[in-house]
Amino acid sequence: MKLTFLGTRGNIEAKTSRHRRHTNLMVSFKGKNVLIDCGEDWKNKVYDLNPHAIVITHAHPDHSFGLKEGAPCPVYAPEDAYSEIKKYKIDKLEKVGHRKKFNVRGISFEAFPVEHSIKAPAVGYRVKAGKHTVFYAPDLVYIYDRKEALEGAALYIGDGATIRRSFVRKRGDTLIGHTPIRTQLTWCRKEGVPKMIITHCGSEIIKGDERKLGKKIREMAPERRVEAEIAYDGMEILLR
Ligand SMILES: [Zn+2]
Ligand SMILES: [Zn+2]
Repeated sequence: MKLTFLGTRGNIEAKTSRHRRHTNLMVSFKGKNVLIDCGEDWKNKVYDLNPHAIVITHAHPDHSFGLKEGAPCPVYAPEDAYSEIKKYKIDKLEKVGHRKKFNVRGISFEAFPVEHSIKAPAVGYRVKAGKHTVFYAPDLVYIYDRKEALEGAALYIGDGATIRRSFVRKRGDTLIGHTPIRTQLTWCRKEGVPKMIITHCGSEIIKGDERKLGKKIREMAPERRVEAEIAYDGMEILLR
């Protein structure tokens, strides 16, 4: 399985050459390419990428508004995003059920509900191709079934909106926003995931000195016996 981090920027104005475009991930296996998320930045450009399929996490602008002009392939959207994406010119739109595994061109996906937004409920995906499993959750406060989501995963690809400070807010009984990288590293340690890749970078990373921040994050990670790396646009990871 090959992972290509085409975009690594969160829903913020700031951008750099390392984090230019909205967060998404191309998963490639045996010549087939499945794109997870298609934010506003990817509108029309998604035709150049020309994936075999697109899988969506939630209906926020930086994750699905790139589909407003249509898509070159089938699109898979979880229940909550489906009603929004249905309004776009998509020829083949499939509804994804929570915790129901589905296969896209030889790659297995399972949507795990995550807490993140009331208006645009989100999922993370457990992705399996060949013998490797990874979990991808670019925006979240927490994963409901964390143990099942992360069990046996080689990588946890998570939310880089904030390093230590909490961006979690309370709306009634619900928590919304983004949990810090530090907390996500703790989840990795608890569930035995050896490495976190940080994507969906917020202004702390994008406006900061990435070399220093990378060091700071790596210092937080080993005390949790977890490796950590900040993704950048174009970064590739090959799992074999
Ligand atoms: Zn986002
Ligand atoms: Zn979001």
